[in-house]
Amino acid sequence: MTKVDGRPVRGPELLFCANCQVSVAATELDEGGARRTPKGRVFCAACVVATPRERAVRRRALENEFADDAPIRGAAAVPVATPVGRPSAASELAALRRAVAGAHARIARLEARLAELEARASGAAAPPQH
Ligand SMILES: [Zn+2]
Repeated sequence: MTKVDGRPVRGPELLFCANCQVSVAATELDEGGARRTPKGRVFCAACVVATPRERAVRRRALENEFADDAPIRGAAAVPVATPVGRPSAASELAALRRAVAGAHARIARLEARLAELEARASGAAAPPQH
């Protein structure tokens, strides 16, 4: 289990190297390859053993990787592609007409059943006719 200041930390903790941003498994910290700095930052195993110059190279490599791919302030949102297979207005209209026709048919069946039950109820309540 990962420990902070000697105390165990519960639950998943997402760890990333403070220098090069690679993910660091909690087990790497436990096993001593990756380390926490005195201020609590996590360094990956490579950055722990790297010289300051090597750390700078790793940091620059990361910055170069993202140099041409970042959100642009003020730019329009990236358009979301229209879902494939989105129904056309004509097919949606046809589907709605079928749904309305089906609803009318269900209403007619319910009304017939209601009339049948009402007739039976009134027949049972009415005194026998002779
Ligand atoms: Zn690192």
